[in-house]
Amino acid sequence: MLSYRHSFHAGNFADVLKHIVLIEILQHLGKKDKAFDYIDTHAGAGLYHLASVHAEKLQEYQDGIAKLTRSDWPELATYFAVIDAVNTTKALEYYPGSPFIALHCIRHQDRAWLYELHPDDAGLLLQNTQKVKRARVMREDGLKGLLSLLPPVSRRGLVLIDPSYEIKSDYDLVFQTVEKAYAKFPTGTYAIWYPVVERSRILRLEKQFINSGIKNIQRFELAITADSDERGMTSSGMIVINPPWQLIDTMNQLLPKLLNVLAVDASAFHKSEVLVAE
Ligand code: SAM
Repeated sequence: MLSYRHSFHAGNFADVLKHIVLIEILQHLGKKDKAFDYIDTHAGAGLYHLASVHAEKLQEYQDGIAKLTRSDWPELATYFAVIDAVNTTKALEYYPGSPFIALHCIRHQDRAWLYELHPDDAGLLLQNTQKVKRARVMREDGLKGLLSLLPPVSRRGLVLIDPSYEIKSDYDLVFQTVEKAYAKFPTGTYAIWYPVVERSRILRLEKQFINSGIKNIQRFELAITADSDERGMTSSGMIVINPPWQLIDTMNQLLPKLLNVLAVDASAFHKSEVLVAE
């Protein structure tokens, strides 16, 4: 049974990095008129109430989105526009999940495929997106669903893979699924989120990608403190296959600035690098 609920974590420092990278990629895809598909294998509920019992319990958004003052971030105008769109006042009451962010960025000709397995979150996601014709909510396993969907009819697209990694084997399963997905759709962009709870798991995942034969892989990571096996998630990152050409430059500028605001101590760090060249 699934126990992870993103409502406990919405808007945390990991969401900030993930959602900034997501927006950068979607905006790049939107530069050409031709339609594209957005596939979110682990979509969550779509929208989170930050005063809910879940969000209030850990208040993770206080160390994430709440630390970003909008006037300091003209380069994140779209991110703040989505946040504005889900809040009726200037107060930060709601935080948009990846489906809401994507639906804000995609156009009438594009399609969003939103997979969510948890029955409660799938129900909320369905409710939250029911008026959007371009979105299709699938109450199924997103990794299996992805393989059945590829290649998309549009032959252009972004796949966001954002699991909770509740089970240790999830890391291998994610890698194996991406390998199969890439074989079916090698021109797609894939953005794979990872948490750093135990660094050894990420080193293994990294090696798997580097040795996979897949070309053009970059990685962006933001650690709010040093690696530790005791303190829960200290860092998180995005592995991006076939990134937009300007993404690394954009992240090279954004990551040090984000680090300044989100670091909890002087051992915080960031990574922005090419794992495999084109
Ligand atoms: N992508 C969301 C966002 O950025 O707003 C957050 C997603 S959260 C980290 C992971 C979600 O995946 C949870 O809602 C969980 O219920 C769901 N989930 C777990 N295993 C899944 C699976 N095999 N297929 C689809 N969804 C799954």
